[in-house]
Amino acid sequence: MARKKSPVAAAVVLREAKPLAANGGVLAPNERRLNFGERWAYAPAPEQSDYIEIKPRYQLFIDGKFRAPHSGRHFDSINPATEGKLAEIAEADAHDVDLAVQAARRAHRNVWSKMAGRERGKFLYRIARLVQEKARELAVLESMDGGKTIKESRDIDLPLVAAHFFYYAGWADKLAYAFPGRTPHSLGVAAQIIPWNFPLLMAAWKLAPALAAGNTCVLKPAETTSITALHLAEIFQQAELPDGVVNIITGAGPTGKALVEHDDVNKIAFTGSTSVGKMLTRAVAGTKKSLTLELGGKAANIIFEDAALDQAVEGIVSGIYFNQGHVCCAGSRLLVQEGVFSAVIRKLRDRISSLRVGNPLDKNTDIGAINSRVQLDKICELVESGLQQGAELVQPRLRLPEKGYWYPPSFFTGVTASHRIAQEEIFGPVLSVMTFRTPEEAIERANNTPYGLSAGVWTDKGSKIFKIVSRLRAGVVWANTYNKFDPTSPFGGYRESGFGREGGLHGLRPYLALD
Ligand code: NAP
Ligand code: MG
Repeated sequence: MARKKSPVAAAVVLREAKPLAANGGVLAPNERRLNFGERWAYAPAPEQSDYIEIKPRYQLFIDGKFRAPHSGRHFDSINPATEGKLAEIAEADAHDVDLAVQAARRAHRNVWSKMAGRERGKFLYRIARLVQEKARELAVLESMDGGKTIKESRDIDLPLVAAHFFYYAGWADKLAYAFPGRTPHSLGVAAQIIPWNFPLLMAAWKLAPALAAGNTCVLKPAETTSITALHLAEIFQQAELPDGVVNIITGAGPTGKALVEHDDVNKIAFTGSTSVGKMLTRAVAGTKKSLTLELGGKAANIIFEDAALDQAVEGIVSGIYFNQGHVCCAGSRLLVQEGVFSAVIRKLRDRISSLRVGNPLDKNTDIGAINSRVQLDKICELVESGLQQGAELVQPRLRLPEKGYWYPPSFFTGVTASHRIAQEEIFGPVLSVMTFRTPEEAIERANNTPYGLSAGVWTDKGSKIFKIVSRLRAGVVWANTYNKFDPTSPFGGYRESGFGREGGLHGLRPYLALD
């Protein structure tokens, strides 16, 4: 039987997440198209959410208690899949920041720095177990507040959150063995600022090593995804973590700025954009505060002719589409060796036309909602720049839900190194595809970016992997897989992707002074 023409049509740039007109070629959100053109629909399979208790209003968590903000102001947290308001979140000002830092200082001086490591470890184990107990509820909340699929929050984020607390709990009484011949000391109060793409996981990456090392913390989640951090605060209360050891202050950029500029902070750990990271570097210069930065990236995924192509395409898809492209280490540039270019493009085109975009709480959804209107606008603006600069966009024709913020899985061909879409972080489900002829050219192209966070290599030859990896300027390189994380393994970048490592033994070092 002759194969039908591929369902992929020419580009449609969605300035607004408007549904495309319903017609025979357009898929409904729960429909899937098989490669040979047949369509069939999945029955909805939503994760239950009616038992989730979302408070109408969330307050600041300071000194072990929830308290109203000094200004009395609150802002709305939105469900990006429905545009409905989920809750009101307290907005912390400099006064609240000061209260939080003071509480952390007292807790460090009087309790946490004096406590034996094995006792600190017990609290971390308790937190890890409580996270596991509440994992399903936290995963649903994470998907509702941030738009990520339940598949991701339930199967990746929450297990990793618990794993980080378990892992660093194990180090709490072994710090002296971690750095042989040296005497480790905690630094004091750690100010920790995190982004919206992995709200709970980023909180765990920051809090677990800091607490294991004997520091106390003031954490600021991102404005659009604060709710799960405040449920984590409830877990800290249940674990009877001493008051003030962790304080959580919510708010936008100015709240983060006030925290960074507070005189009594010893360490700043930031994950977010390179532009804010640069501002923090300036703010910290000339002070005694120590700083680690986990910033943006523009990772290259390199497919060689000898790679297992189906496996590679699946890895590419999971590396950029399954998380809405909301990952700093997303493989957002695809470098394909010329001999397999048309095969890879065909497979990629077929695969993205089978991806399901829609309700993040549906267990069959592959691509959830874009985190915010602002982020959707950024994606649209960059996609438009790609079209204007002459690249060609491939997008499956699918009908997006009427409400909420959505972007279909897309890729660009005809991209040159000078295009903005080859240089700037899109932070959405959009891939820029380029070609190369020789390994030398692949390395040169992969390194042609101001970032240096991550990269991927797909080849059948182990020796080629070692050769290429040693020359890629990226903090993390995956080979024949992508986006794999483990608490024992350090993660971080260099150049404009920041400095310092999180995870593993390396992740303890920024929270300790060594005599
Ligand atoms: P962002 O604007 O830099 O925000 C990150 C955090 O900083 C948020 O909590 C934000 O608060 C806060 N903030 C904003 N302005 C600030 C200021 N002047 N002083 C102190 N804090 C301030 O980044 P984003 O756009 O939300 O997040 C996406 C970026 O994070 C991407 O570039 C991505 O690559 C990067 N990222 C990197 C990693 C990594 O490990 N390398 C991991 C995840 C994400 P509000 O949200 O309230 O504005
Ligand atoms: Mg939200």
